[in-house]
Amino acid sequence: MRTPVVRFAPSPTGRIHLGNARTALFNYLFARRFNGRFVLRFDDTDLERSKAEYAAAIEVDLAWLGAHPDLMVRQSERFALYAAAAQRLKEMGRLYPCFETPDELDRRRKRQIGRGLPPVYDRAALALSDADRAALTAQGRKPHWRFKLEARTVAWSDLVRGDSHIDCASLSDPVLMREDGSWLYTLPSVVDDIDLGVTHVIRGEDHVTNTAVQLQLFEILGDPAHAPSFAHHNLLTSSSGEGLSKRSGALSIAGLREAGVEPLAVAALAVLTGSSDAVAPVRSLDELQARFDITHTSRGAAKFDPAELDALSARTLHGLDYEAVRERLAAHDIVGHRAEPFWLAVRGNLTVFADVAVWWRVVEGEVTPVIEDADYLAEARALLPQEPWDEKTWSQWTGALKQATGRKGKALFHPLRLALTGRDQGPELAALLPLLGRAKALARLP
Ligand code: GLU
Repeated sequence: MRTPVVRFAPSPTGRIHLGNARTALFNYLFARRFNGRFVLRFDDTDLERSKAEYAAAIEVDLAWLGAHPDLMVRQSERFALYAAAAQRLKEMGRLYPCFETPDELDRRRKRQIGRGLPPVYDRAALALSDADRAALTAQGRKPHWRFKLEARTVAWSDLVRGDSHIDCASLSDPVLMREDGSWLYTLPSVVDDIDLGVTHVIRGEDHVTNTAVQLQLFEILGDPAHAPSFAHHNLLTSSSGEGLSKRSGALSIAGLREAGVEPLAVAALAVLTGSSDAVAPVRSLDELQARFDITHTSRGAAKFDPAELDALSARTLHGLDYEAVRERLAAHDIVGHRAEPFWLAVRGNLTVFADVAVWWRVVEGEVTPVIEDADYLAEARALLPQEPWDEKTWSQWTGALKQATGRKGKALFHPLRLALTGRDQGPELAALLPLLGRAKALARLP
């Protein structure tokens, strides 16, 4: 196989959501698996709807997910390439000007449907003479430009969907350029894929029909022996069958991040839903990559339950090694030789990462002890072992207390937890106690 070059090509007209993360990560993990390159391409030819803020936000979202691009390009900086390609198509008679208004086209479509015909563009513009075109232009009419499809079946072997074919005779000649000279997505995408040497186009199955058109363009504009391979994956839908939309903002990556959902949980759900592997926590993108094989993606619906995300996120946290979170802990000033044992002590209790701050305060800062039974706690104070402390200190201490007081179970342990942590539940005290140290423990026992 050629060293893969893949691209994720969002249009920066909104924030990306879980479904976009699926496409982005399919591309990123595919590149990572085969030591290829992952290109981030902003499809920002629609200058009105595309915003630099959205592009910047998409970069932030991808970085948060860990999908770092090797290269970033913007279509808005590449118009000259598209113009040159369009010129070649014109010279070959494959790009032709059309003057119909949207209303006219609509009326024609309705008439076709009324007669039981497929609503395919009738190529009336091809019948215009030079004089007709000159007259229309003189009236101030501006053409849009259509690609003249060859009426034949285009076939490809899709990495997800298997043998695929589309009869282009049943398609309208697609508009490549609007009246105002702006580009629709079809041509720039092909020009860039050729220019950047894209080997695999991995995208949602909503683009299957475009592939037939684009393959005809690849054949004309590129080296036919090197058209990319295609993989069209199924789209994520929530369990109620709803799709995800950029506009609704539902399950946006930014929203999930702000809600404290772990990026690896988002990645696991986005990638493993509808795969041959069950959705389960992963410790790293490498692990996710090892569990992901694009050719094993199911063709059926990729349904997921958004309510699963919180539990998946918590379980993801519980399995993360210290190395995976070192920097994030440091951002909370949790550093030094106690940072790692602290992480190992508390991770199993977290539902969101930000709760580390709560537990760090418990071992490091001030807490208000909850005193339930002062006499018992006084006894506990008297029996508190001398340092050095380790993970056995807790059982030594509570063993001695049990002997001295005859207490057991909750009556033995719970007042200690309340006094030492100020809370009625939390991580194992055997792990917390050595982090707390004797001086702090004493200060919290009356
Ligand atoms: N801008 C297109 C989209 O967001 C890209 C499709 C493609 O990957 O070719 O749907």
